[in-house]
Amino acid sequence: MPITANDVNRTSWLEVEENSDFPIQNIPFGVFITSDDVITIGTRIGSYAIDLSALQQLGYFDGIELTEGVFLQDTLNDFIAAGKKTWRLVRNRLADIFDANNPHLRDNASHREAVVFHLADVQVQIPVEVGDFTDFYSSREHATNVGKMFRDPNNALLPNWLHIPVGYHGRSSTVVPSGVPVHRPYGQTLPKGETQPVFGPSKRVDFELETAFITTCANSMGERLSVEEAEDHIFGMVLLNDWSARDIQTWEYVPLGPFLAKNFGSSISPWIVTLDALEPFRTASPVQDDPKPLPYLQQEGNHAFDIDLEVGILPEYGEEKIVSKSNFKHLYWTMSQQLAHHTVNGCKINTGDLMGSGTISGPTADSYGSMLELTWGGQNPLTLHDGSSRTFIEDNDTVIMRGFCKNENVRIGFGEVRSKLLPAIPFE
Ligand code: CA
Repeated sequence: MPITANDVNRTSWLEVEENSDFPIQNIPFGVFITSDDVITIGTRIGSYAIDLSALQQLGYFDGIELTEGVFLQDTLNDFIAAGKKTWRLVRNRLADIFDANNPHLRDNASHREAVVFHLADVQVQIPVEVGDFTDFYSSREHATNVGKMFRDPNNALLPNWLHIPVGYHGRSSTVVPSGVPVHRPYGQTLPKGETQPVFGPSKRVDFELETAFITTCANSMGERLSVEEAEDHIFGMVLLNDWSARDIQTWEYVPLGPFLAKNFGSSISPWIVTLDALEPFRTASPVQDDPKPLPYLQQEGNHAFDIDLEVGILPEYGEEKIVSKSNFKHLYWTMSQQLAHHTVNGCKINTGDLMGSGTISGPTADSYGSMLELTWGGQNPLTLHDGSSRTFIEDNDTVIMRGFCKNENVRIGFGEVRSKLLPAIPFE
C-alpha cells in the first residue's frame, strides 16, 4: 500500500509556519484534552491539534475498518494494536482530509470547529500507556567514552558490546511527557576516596539524549521476530531524555546494572512520529564487519534514519544554550536489530512498549549526548550564555531536546521534549 501521506507536493489548507516540524507530510499521533475538556487521540499540523475522534464521529474515516471509539481514548494503545495497515490508511486519509484541494472539511465551518483546535488551547498528554520500558546502549561513541572514563582507555568497549545490542529493563511508571518537571533524586553515593557511602541529593544529575520507539503487539511468548520483520512492529518514534544520576549510578550499578539512578524520571516528546513519515530519511547505519554480528542480527539495506538531534540548557533566568548536536544515524545497532535481539529468547513484546536507543553520541566532542561526556566526567565545565558554568544539571535548569529530519523537499520533526529539574524534595 503506497504512503500517499508522504507526497511532498501536497500542501494543507491549514497554515503551516515555515520550518515547522509538523507539515502535512508528518501527521504524527498523540493524545490531548480539548478546550471542551474531552480527551482524544489527535494529530498535529502546524500549530493546530486535530481531534481524530470527532473526525471519526463525523464520518471522515468511512471505508477504513476501525473499532468504534478507537480515537475517543486517553492512550494510543488500541489504535497501535490495530497494526501497520490501519496506521497507514488513517495517515493517508488525514493527508487527504487536510489537502489544500479538498473542500469537504475545509469548507464546513461547524465540522471544522469540532475538529480543529489551536495547540495553545489544548493540553497535550502522554501518548501511550507504556507497558515495559527497555533501554538499550547502542551508541558506540557513548559506550566508548564511558568505558574510557570508568574502565580502561585502551579497552573501552566491553567484549560483548560489538556482538550484542546491550540493554536493560527500566520502569515505565516514571515515564512522563514533555513539560512535566523532575525532582533531583536522593540516593546513596560513595564520595571519592571513601569506603562508606553517604545519603543525600544526587550531585551529578545528567540528561541522556535518546530516541525511543513504540511497538505494537509483535509475538507470543516463545516466538521470535526476525530482523527483517521487526520494523513492521514499530509504530513510531519519540525523543527521550533518560534522566540519570551519575553518582548514584556509579555506586549501585555493579553487578546488575543501573537501578535507582535511572528511574526517577524519563521524559518523552508527546507526538509519535511514524516510521512511515520517516521513510524518506532512511539511511545507512555504521558498517558492522569487524566483527560481523551473528546471523540472526545480520541485515541488508538501510535501517537507520537521518534525524538531527540537539540539546539545550535553559537556566532559570537566562537564555538557552545549545550544548550538543548529534544524529540518530550514528547508532551502531539499528531498531530492527534491537527488537530482533529482544525477542530472540522468546520474550514477548506488547503494544505500547517503549524502547530507548541509549545515549546518542556522535564522533566529535560537541556531539556527545550527556553532560558526563560533554564535560568529561565534570573535568571540563561548559559555559552558558550568562557566564555561569555547568558540569552537570543544576536545580531549575530546563533541558530541551529537539529532533528533525530535513531534505530539499520536506522537514519532518518531533518538536521537543522539555523538562525542568526541580530541587530535591527534602528528606524528613
Ligand atoms: Ca539511557
